[in-house]
Amino acid sequence: MTDHQFINDLIKKHGFDEVYHLAGQSFVWLSFSNPIYTHNVNAMGTLNLVEAIREESPRSKMYFAATSELYGKVKEIPQNEETPFHPRSPYATSKLAGFWTMKNYRESYNLFLCNGILFNHESEMRGPEFVTRKITLAAAKISLGMQDHLELGNLDAKRDWGYAKDYVYGMWLILQHDKPDDFVLATNEAHSVREFAEAAFGHAGIDIEWQGQDEDTVGLKRGTDQVLIKINPEFYRPAEVDVLQGDYSKVKKVLGWEPKIKFKELAKLMVEHDLSLFR
Ligand code: GDP
Repeated sequence: MTDHQFINDLIKKHGFDEVYHLAGQSFVWLSFSNPIYTHNVNAMGTLNLVEAIREESPRSKMYFAATSELYGKVKEIPQNEETPFHPRSPYATSKLAGFWTMKNYRESYNLFLCNGILFNHESEMRGPEFVTRKITLAAAKISLGMQDHLELGNLDAKRDWGYAKDYVYGMWLILQHDKPDDFVLATNEAHSVREFAEAAFGHAGIDIEWQGQDEDTVGLKRGTDQVLIKINPEFYRPAEVDVLQGDYSKVKKVLGWEPKIKFKELAKLMVEHDLSLFR
């Protein structure tokens, strides 16, 4: 993404009908220790791509993976396309640059450029550094006697977690619309990391009971003193996004999109996948 010549040649050679720009440094925690790399890839990389489209293939439609992280320190709950942004990480500030680059090129050069403001979307293929997969992998391994305990950061952060497969269909729908626009894709439900852990361990046959507060919180196997979840402050972030919940009414009205899979089912399908992986 950082090689303008390469991106230019690629767009020139193929003149794609549709371009889905999902290439990015997408891990918020890592962006605090790698802010310049994150900005080079996410902000400059997006500029490289829209410049290539402007110069070499202005008929190409392009989708950009913007993010609910733009809302950061949220101004209202739930968030929609009109909610003001307040990014809280180098990841979010880099994506804000990408978001406005898309809008600016759309307005300046009449290009078909669209932002998807997608809330967290997870699946069986989610990277293990993200909290949902970290939890489902651990729940599966712990229930099979392959891992002792799980270490997490902030248990009280709330996210609007949907299923990646539903969201990829939404990305495609956005580019089939008759005009370029920006859309929120979400489930309009917020659940805490704590709730996700309870649901995931529950699907692996383990009932979690919480004790203690803040850094001393532990998740015990109910009715025993066996510690299965501990806090490790290493996973805290310098600035946290406390709650994200998306209002998807615009995309529902304009494109007829709705999430099919929500929180409980998502945790279940991820744990079942991870259980069969280790079995
Ligand atoms: P994000 O919403 O894109 O940052 O997705 P993540 O899955 O990385 O994090 C979601 C939330 O879970 C954030 O508020 C994190 O602070 C919180 N969290 C708590 N413990 C952990 C952990 O061990 N790893 C990660 N990645 N996030 C954690």
